[in-house]
Amino acid sequence: MVPERLVDCHVHLNNYHETSRRPTAENVADLFDKMAECGVDHAVVLTSYRVDLDRPSVEEICETLAADPRATVVEGLRWRGEARSDLFSVEERIRDGLVKGIKLYPGYDHYPINDPSLEAVFRIAAKHDVPVMIHTGDTYAKTAKVRMAHPLLVDDIAVDYPDVRFVMCHLGNPWFQDAAEVLYKNDNVFADISGLTLGEFTYDFERYVAMRLKDMITYMGDPGKQLMYGSDWPLVHMKPYIKLLHELDFTDEQLENVAWRTACTLFKIDPATLGRHGGAPTPGGDAPTGT
Ligand SMILES: [Zn+2]
Repeated sequence: MVPERLVDCHVHLNNYHETSRRPTAENVADLFDKMAECGVDHAVVLTSYRVDLDRPSVEEICETLAADPRATVVEGLRWRGEARSDLFSVEERIRDGLVKGIKLYPGYDHYPINDPSLEAVFRIAAKHDVPVMIHTGDTYAKTAKVRMAHPLLVDDIAVDYPDVRFVMCHLGNPWFQDAAEVLYKNDNVFADISGLTLGEFTYDFERYVAMRLKDMITYMGDPGKQLMYGSDWPLVHMKPYIKLLHELDFTDEQLENVAWRTACTLFKIDPATLGRHGGAPTPGGDAPTGT
């Protein structure tokens, strides 16, 4: 069964290879092309924990996407190092509706998610009712400290900030069982299934990931309420990820929630503005119209 709509709640507009470095506008065009090709109706774009030649600033991303109905922006915070995010500006962008959520990168940026310094961030999220997305588990960069990205630490903040909704990205890979417990225990914690491979799956690894996810789903009981579809494009190709979504044995109702309903609620995306491709291939690759 194809869900009514499909929201990819985890994509990036960074360059990941110096050899293929290109302007942000070209990455945006590529994103919308791939979405049209794969029947993805909306994408949540996450900005980085750094700004450099390969990682555009949140200001640039907001300007380039300029309220396009096909995309929502979540602001990645720079929390360590010299150029930290200015929380006054972050709050203004959230208040003005340019940004619909906050992304934190514990591990990459050397801090654990239960660091007391983050209280100011969580207060902003609670005040404006925007979700806080958190990188959990394995990291793409060898310079990251993976212990700080362990999913079990999310339990600390879920308890301390019951008014904030948290999203664990990547299901804490490879600590799936710990992530399942944090989800099962805390109603204010959600998760996306993004980034569990790089590029295309190998046959064995796809089976491995699908098994782990099914184990989590069994443990959680009702996964439809807390899991969301996300890919981690362009690190992950969209098509094999949509295929994975369909291998997880969700009921029809759960699939609709995972594919788009929960993301629409969390990021306040109006379903009426979405195309209705639901991940079905669109012959000729016609772009979602947003009507
Ligand atoms: Zn990502």
